[in-house]
Amino acid sequence: MIYMDYNATTPCDERVVEEMLPYFNNKFANSASLYRPARETRKAVEEARKNISLLVGVLPDEIFFTSGGTEADNWAIMATALKFQSKGKHIITSAIEHHAVLYTCKALEKQGFEVTYIPVDNYGIIDIEQLKNSIRKDTILITIMHANNEIGSIQPISEISAMAKEKGVIFHTDSVQTIGKIPCNLKELGPDMFSLSAHKFYGPKGIGALYIRKGLSIPPFIYGGGQEKGKRSGTTNVAGIVGFGKAAELAKQEMSTDIIYVKKLRDTLENKIKESIPEIILNGHPEKKLHNTINVCIKHIEGESILLSLDFEGICASSGSACTSGSLEPSHVLLAIGLPHEIAHGSLRLTLGKYNTMDEVEKVASVLPRVVERLRQISPFWQDKK
Ligand SMILES: *Cc1c(COP(=O)(O)O)cnc(C)c1O
Repeated sequence: MIYMDYNATTPCDERVVEEMLPYFNNKFANSASLYRPARETRKAVEEARKNISLLVGVLPDEIFFTSGGTEADNWAIMATALKFQSKGKHIITSAIEHHAVLYTCKALEKQGFEVTYIPVDNYGIIDIEQLKNSIRKDTILITIMHANNEIGSIQPISEISAMAKEKGVIFHTDSVQTIGKIPCNLKELGPDMFSLSAHKFYGPKGIGALYIRKGLSIPPFIYGGGQEKGKRSGTTNVAGIVGFGKAAELAKQEMSTDIIYVKKLRDTLENKIKESIPEIILNGHPEKKLHNTINVCIKHIEGESILLSLDFEGICASSGSACTSGSLEPSHVLLAIGLPHEIAHGSLRLTLGKYNTMDEVEKVASVLPRVVERLRQISPFWQDKK
């Protein structure tokens, strides 16, 4: 099997698994309890929090564990809306957010909030001037993602932070696709809140965090036993947190070499696709883009049929985002960068990671043109064209 869907999830690094294992049985104590074994699990949790804070350049106290990126996004947006609704009910986001942000904003619209969706250019970068002009007296939150999961485009986060600060508006960023993957000093980037998730950088699924800048206080999203300083209740997922911490430690040490390795594979594959398949569109910004992401629209055929054919050859890829595949609506991200429906339907996302090899790149590069050729032969759109 060849796995090229790293933006959907990554396998756990073996070293992460090893670090986690004792916390399922030998070191199982509830970290909130008073006995010695509990103090040990508590220590492991705090060690992980420290490693995560070091990876992103913030204070350990500013990291609050959640069940993942989705919960962190929901929490940041819902709690800010709840707390500041007396000041205003206007929220700004972008047209290309992950559904964890987009559908949370939609839910708030149903509750009387007004949401402005900032458009993006053909490369998937937001229009910063339009963002500036959209800020109103009653704007309480800007939530704009760091890197897009589908096309990899990277937004000007420091500029947005500066603008938000100047206008006195809270700024949250979904940085699930960047943290642990590319260098991120969040103190320099400057958002008030950001979301992160372990399983996008070789950690376990079901664990993530929300950073909340010291001095900013938002209400909890989940109530109960008062864990995470009363901000996020629920028995602490010690094994998950330990794995998250280990993944952060490894990312800090190995990220720069991983980036060089993965980028070389990605560039090779992208060039081979460009050379061997006619009538395609490569999506995303040429430079301001994740080093592991290829998103390509292959004209006159359907993304779903490409995926099925690749699956038959043992290749795992994606069309649009993992959450929307299975539905027949084309990706909202591809529509937002201005592609017409029929072209957006033919999208293929190949996202690479540290376990891919040049042999795998060669294999995919030789299989894909054959698959495309065969699908085009039976495509009525391709026949019409001829
Ligand atoms: C994967 C992803 C999420 C969701 O994170 P989970 O930990 O899977 O809930 C949110 N935003 C982006 C950009 C993502 O890629």
